[in-house]
Amino acid sequence: MVDQTSWMERYSRQILLPEIGGIGQKKLAKCSVGLVGANSMGLPFFLFGVGAGIGRWGVIDTSKSRAKEMDQQAKLRNPEINVKLFSPQKLKENVASWVNQWSIVVDLSNDSTIQLQLSSACQLTGIPFFSACCHGSTGLLFQAPCPFCLLTAPPQPTLSKKKSDLATMVPGLIGTVLAQKIVKFLLEPGVRLSPGLTSFCAEDSTFTNLTPYMNKSCPTCNIVNN
Ligand SMILES: [Zn+2]
Repeated sequence: MVDQTSWMERYSRQILLPEIGGIGQKKLAKCSVGLVGANSMGLPFFLFGVGAGIGRWGVIDTSKSRAKEMDQQAKLRNPEINVKLFSPQKLKENVASWVNQWSIVVDLSNDSTIQLQLSSACQLTGIPFFSACCHGSTGLLFQAPCPFCLLTAPPQPTLSKKKSDLATMVPGLIGTVLAQKIVKFLLEPGVRLSPGLTSFCAEDSTFTNLTPYMNKSCPTCNIVNN
């Protein structure tokens, strides 16, 4: 059972916010996130999400030690949070059944194959899906990307498996912004997530909302090919 006094102390500053309040805080405790990627983007995303009080987490990473470190960090900050670690094998076995157990799924793997696999499974199961990646001094935040359009999209250098140059603060910033984005989304009742893309440029510290790439003949996006 949750100790009400420590719960109030832990979240008092958020509960004072009119957009969250006691009801919103309790709602966050019941929400869950399936996260793929315990890396330099995943860690700040996870820690701010845990700090905000999202109650249940499933974390997948190719590195067992990185995923374990996240679990330990969560317990230090908030012992009420439930974190379960999964091996990447889970996605190979049955990706749809894995995504279907969470309120939302977040892909921070920086791997286009995994992004496509998760976006397809989320579209099939109706689970809201967010994804982000970084390259150089740019970060990209995807919201409900269409798997059919991703299949035919021009190659994204940001999702390359190869090691590339990267401004070190970009993943941290993208992970933090995404945590804020999903807390807001989880608190809004009955909102259907529509496709969106936001780009961050570290050189001039600007965020730009872009139109996501859409294949004109995509059956899902229902765009008529002229
Ligand atoms: Zn599409």
